[in-house]
Amino acid sequence: MDFMNASNFVCPVCAHGKYTPAFKCKDHFITGEEFPILKCNGCGLLFTGNLPDPENLGKYYKSDDYISHSDTRQGLVNRIYHLVRDYMLGKKMQIVEKYTGKNNGRILDIGAGTAYFLNHARSKGWVVSGTEKDPDARKMANEKWKINILPDTDLFTLAGESFDAITLWHVMEHLPDLDAHWNAISKKLSENGVLIIALPNSQSSDAIHYGKYWAAWDVPRHLWHFNPAQVRQMAEKHGFTLEAMHRMPFDAFYISILSEKYRNSALALLRGLTMGKISWLKSLFNTTSCSSVIYIFRKESL
Ligand SMILES: [Zn+2]
Repeated sequence: MDFMNASNFVCPVCAHGKYTPAFKCKDHFITGEEFPILKCNGCGLLFTGNLPDPENLGKYYKSDDYISHSDTRQGLVNRIYHLVRDYMLGKKMQIVEKYTGKNNGRILDIGAGTAYFLNHARSKGWVVSGTEKDPDARKMANEKWKINILPDTDLFTLAGESFDAITLWHVMEHLPDLDAHWNAISKKLSENGVLIIALPNSQSSDAIHYGKYWAAWDVPRHLWHFNPAQVRQMAEKHGFTLEAMHRMPFDAFYISILSEKYRNSALALLRGLTMGKISWLKSLFNTTSCSSVIYIFRKESL
């Protein structure tokens, strides 16, 4: 990928061309390999270096445990994850309906996975569309919900569709070509439409507490590690204005428990719940310290 190469690096937030190594981080989830986290000299954006070639990236996603793509409810962390996911489906739709002012519009979910969210949106009366890179996830979406999810690259070729809401739930941190996505989103969002993006927050209390063990670095699957100021700056570059930010309160607990496991803590569950609660309490007073943040954007009117 282009940004691996020092001479090619252009920061997707501030367009600066230079970076500095910040620290090293392990792929605790699958391979145990170590990757450098690099820091843009302009805006401070953190990003993952030494990325595998795109054709070799698949093995870093190949795990029965990769819960984004799996339905297993075994293991305590997985069970918590699924409980929270079911609760969050409702919260996500509340946000979509609040900011669009509609309860039956057209919605596009980019990185739709196995289409849990789109299935929920459809049950609420929305006309749903989705894109997803993983063919296995697309197949599951079709078999489980009879929802036809398009390959990710179709986002750039689809013409003539306009959406009231476009959502990316923990997806943008995986995308190598951010500018291309923002441009495509801008074309496909209706004039009054809303763009809703959920991202891990690299300046959250739990990120600062766990340092290199913070589970949401998730290298090399997460390419970019944004903070709220950087997300806002990137959006403004593409003609979007930030309307609101919402907390994803449960992420602090889930990420803290995983982080404790990664640093081999005794009583990982108890410690993770304790740190999750501290992070959650802090985020009540300051959304920009929350483990993950939901951003609501609109296109600037011309
Ligand atoms: Zn930058």
